Amino acid sequence: MAPETTPIHINQDLESTLNETRVFPPPPDFAAHAHIPSLGAYEDLYARSIADPESFWAAAARELHWFQPWSKVLEWNLPHAKWFVDGKLNLSYNCVDRHALGDNADKTAILWEAEPIGPNGQPEVRTLTYAELHQEVQRAANALKALGIKRGDRVAVYMGMTPELAIALLACARIGAIHSVIFGGFAAQAIADRVNDSQCVAILTQDSSYRRGSEIPLKRIVDEALATTPSVKHVVVLKRSGTPVTMHPTRDHWWHDLVSSVEPVCECEHMDAEDPLYILYTSGTTGKPKGLVHTTGGYSVQTYLTTKYVFDLNNPAHPNDVYWCTADIGWVTGHSYVVYGPLQNGATVLMYEGAPNYPAFDRFWEIIDRHQVSIFYTAPTAIRAFIKWGNEHVERHKLTSLRLLGTVGEPINPEAWMWYRDKIGHDNCPIVDTWWQTETGGIMIAPIPGAVPAKPGSATRPFFGIEPDVVTKPDSEGRYESVPLGSGGLLVIRKPWPSMARTIYGDDERFQKTYWSDVPGCYFTGDGARRDADGYYWLMGRVDDVLNVSGHRLGTMEVESALVAHTKVAEAAVVGRPDDLKGQAIVAFVTLEASALRPSSSANSADPASTAPVDLNALKDELKKWVTKEIGSLARPEEIRFTDALPKTRSGKIMRRLLRELATHGSIQGDTTTLEDFAVIAKLRESEEG
Ligand code: ATP
Ligand code: MG
Repeated sequence: MAPETTPIHINQDLESTLNETRVFPPPPDFAAHAHIPSLGAYEDLYARSIADPESFWAAAARELHWFQPWSKVLEWNLPHAKWFVDGKLNLSYNCVDRHALGDNADKTAILWEAEPIGPNGQPEVRTLTYAELHQEVQRAANALKALGIKRGDRVAVYMGMTPELAIALLACARIGAIHSVIFGGFAAQAIADRVNDSQCVAILTQDSSYRRGSEIPLKRIVDEALATTPSVKHVVVLKRSGTPVTMHPTRDHWWHDLVSSVEPVCECEHMDAEDPLYILYTSGTTGKPKGLVHTTGGYSVQTYLTTKYVFDLNNPAHPNDVYWCTADIGWVTGHSYVVYGPLQNGATVLMYEGAPNYPAFDRFWEIIDRHQVSIFYTAPTAIRAFIKWGNEHVERHKLTSLRLLGTVGEPINPEAWMWYRDKIGHDNCPIVDTWWQTETGGIMIAPIPGAVPAKPGSATRPFFGIEPDVVTKPDSEGRYESVPLGSGGLLVIRKPWPSMARTIYGDDERFQKTYWSDVPGCYFTGDGARRDADGYYWLMGRVDDVLNVSGHRLGTMEVESALVAHTKVAEAAVVGRPDDLKGQAIVAFVTLEASALRPSSSANSADPASTAPVDLNALKDELKKWVTKEIGSLARPEEIRFTDALPKTRSGKIMRRLLRELATHGSIQGDTTTLEDFAVIAKLRESEEG
């Protein structure tokens, strides 16, 4: 291990892989009508927002509706913040009523597309105007009240991507119930753990959901969880597929029965700015999921403002924008950027129920053309999958309605960024690479499109009012300093921000320890980052994942990006294995492009069985040489393992900690409850033995 005080210095030789010199200014057409139209405008507003963050955020808050104004913008007792003290508001009001009672009543709020393709060759499409959404939310809110659910109660939501899932959140927010959304792909035990952790009184679910052509029996899975969740008194079931389910006579209720038997009008609770809005468990990339608590006022303001500026929504120059964030509402991205951020901005939000490759690999592109999507926000893992599936699926579609692209969830490999810009954006859409976390509630670092030039692989510069820094690892006395431009270190946030999580539900000590103790006085993100000469942030991945080879600290991201840049590689995950000589030796787990497994002499052969197998050992050598050439011999992988798939969380992130265990011990003992596909582990073991 490096001594305690060593900053994470990225070797100078490595900088070439980051391609800091590739800069893409905003397309002039975009900038001409953007909210923030130039770099100068960004820098000026940023400087003012940092000089006086409270005035900055107060001005943003005044764009929303408050039942009672705040008396103080911020009360800060590290690590506990109170924003908009004494202010009263309701997020459901700001998302729905404000538009339904104003000029946007007939504007489409939610545009939903089902996964199954009907007998006419078309999927079912449903639209809800803001006026209709207003009615549905009020009825759902009254339905919850009729069950005795009240302000402060915790309500678990385990549903598929249906309009009712968004309605469920807005209904909870309306009556002040705290929602805890559990991603619809989790199994019974994961549901029970989360429900019990926060003692939910009810679960909202549906009979089943559709995913990649099959049905997931959500109600049946909930029934299994209910065996060990004594706090749950009511289960509300949305009829989606019509699949028969068992209904408990007193505990279980049909959604449609409840909403049709209640009054259509439900006034909003006047929530205190610091009343909890929701609990959300993190994806578990680094360990056991944590139940982060978000409150009402600050969260509303930051999700509102980041959506407006980062996605250029609520822009009079673009009244017909159709905005699509592909994240599931089960993740924070879905909370902040499918539901709360865009609806507060009066946007038309597209929601798609299913998988990107059903019934074919071009489903997303078909959706974009069908609904004229103009703003598209997805994850690097999805982009790498699109690349792997082949350009022909994209090229069949026009995609001319797009004007802005975004990514979130992991660092994006520059290679994937370039593909996204070229193949999806046709070189004329800005890309916003947005860095943030469940804990931060809203976007923290991202280019303001139209203003900040992009560099492929960099999240670029901070959002207004946000003060990140990159610091050295504190020494034994807690001393640390900012690293100079050009070096790497720990990514921290120096000042409180409105949408920061307030605590971990039921475990404030863990909250303090996890985020506020490693770097005294700062919020520690857990991520490593480097700032280049222009002050751009380059996320290097989680600090726990950073490699230490012969005393040099290397971001996993850089080696992975070099591998992904090879034409035969689809995805790569790199981990360190203890090594007596070097400290750590690099082990790379690699998935290959579909085309790489076909021998080159017969790339178009209809019968792959008739050809000789690809020489995988030669390919391993080729890849090792490639990395050496791209980065330097320091980064040369000691070992390369080919695998069919990488272990990922259900939100699509690579779980390097499992690979590290596998590379080190040959087996996996850590928490795997959030792993998407257990079969992947078996395949990885085979790759190791084979
Ligand atoms: P857990 O905290 O339970 O281990 P998680 O960190 O994966 O899970 P999230 O809050 O969903 O849960 O993800 C936030 C993390 O995702 C960030 O800390 C960062 O590592 C990564 N991330 C998100 N967006 C970006 C981005 N644009 N660039 C680089 N990394 C990103
Ligand atoms: Mg995290």
